[in-house]
Amino acid sequence: MNWSLDDLKRLATDCPCGQPHQAIPLEHLEVRPGALAKAAAWIRARYGRVVLVMDEHTRAAAGDALAQALTDHGVLWTACLIEPNGQGDVVADERSIVQALIATGPDVEALVAVGSGTLHDIARFASSKMRIPFVSVPTAPSVDGFTSAGAPLIVRGIKTTYQTQAPIALFADTDVLERAPKELVWAGFGDVIGKFTSLADWAFGAIAAGEPYCAHLAGLTREALETAVAQADGLARARTDAIRSLMEALILSGLVMLLFGQSHPASGGEHHLSHDWEMEFLRSGRRQILHGLKVAAACGVIADVYHAHVESAVAEAVRAGQAPWASLAGREEEVRAILGSIPSGDHVRALMRRIGAPAEPSELGIERSLVTASLKRAHKLRNRYTMLRLLNETNAL
Ligand SMILES: [Zn+2]
Ligand SMILES: [Zn+2]
Repeated sequence: MNWSLDDLKRLATDCPCGQPHQAIPLEHLEVRPGALAKAAAWIRARYGRVVLVMDEHTRAAAGDALAQALTDHGVLWTACLIEPNGQGDVVADERSIVQALIATGPDVEALVAVGSGTLHDIARFASSKMRIPFVSVPTAPSVDGFTSAGAPLIVRGIKTTYQTQAPIALFADTDVLERAPKELVWAGFGDVIGKFTSLADWAFGAIAAGEPYCAHLAGLTREALETAVAQADGLARARTDAIRSLMEALILSGLVMLLFGQSHPASGGEHHLSHDWEMEFLRSGRRQILHGLKVAAACGVIADVYHAHVESAVAEAVRAGQAPWASLAGREEEVRAILGSIPSGDHVRALMRRIGAPAEPSELGIERSLVTASLKRAHKLRNRYTMLRLLNETNAL
């Protein structure tokens, strides 16, 4: 990778944009073969007793090996196997949280999340409540949220993101990642592909509504995006170097969000659409779809909609001349450049197909009527000025 954790950490106080950013609490980062053994040695130097938060799949993928390495190093550990819900999914809900809290006795010094984003969210929330750190051991390059401080939890059927804590260290063993189910790799690729429209919405929000912005951090997220796109053919053949690059891109995207302190760099209209679909699936009790798969499908939809309607909506908004649209007057050229940075929806879908992944909402079981409805309400889910919000406010959809 052509960035280092230390370089990123320095941006908290020394970014070319001149603004202060948030400090990155991550103390150690390893993405390489044999990182599990490194994790055990790192934990041994700091903690005498830990709880491994995992499920039956991630225990087989990495948990057993990590537990053995911890035993070899003389670290006491307990396994907390999070149980799936009635539909067979492991979810970050109140039952899973209580399971992790019960497994964590008063002498436990840290939690170790071994697994997916969901297991990380459970460990993130439980460790934060118990005022102990947590160590991240991802088992698949599936999402960019491993290093996040926010934990999206489903409580009484409603999904809400709680501010908790980022991991103190992250160990991603490429020997483990390369054996991850292909759907999880597709999802990780999809989460990064979504940055095409996240970055465009972030730049648009800055000029249309004065949303906070940093061109340097936007450049780093674009680097993560381009790194992942360049790996498409390698990912299609499940090559180890491609999987590793994808994981590094996901971590970079996550660390940029930590620095910025908000999700702007990595979440725009496409994420809002994906959240809307997720909530509808929760309401109707349907089995959840991997986050990154929804994000990529939503990115294709959003790209089509933005290319079709934003330019005329901006012209309309400028003619109407009310706040916040007045700020767009004279900036039509900048908006055109932002739109020019978004590939066509067909291009987004072709990228997903190139790695063998589903690309359309219909391929994920998301019906046309839900897509149409979500385009008209998803902008209300977050208080952010996106192009999706402009299109709704100007009745362009
Ligand atoms: Zn900056
Ligand atoms: Zn995401």
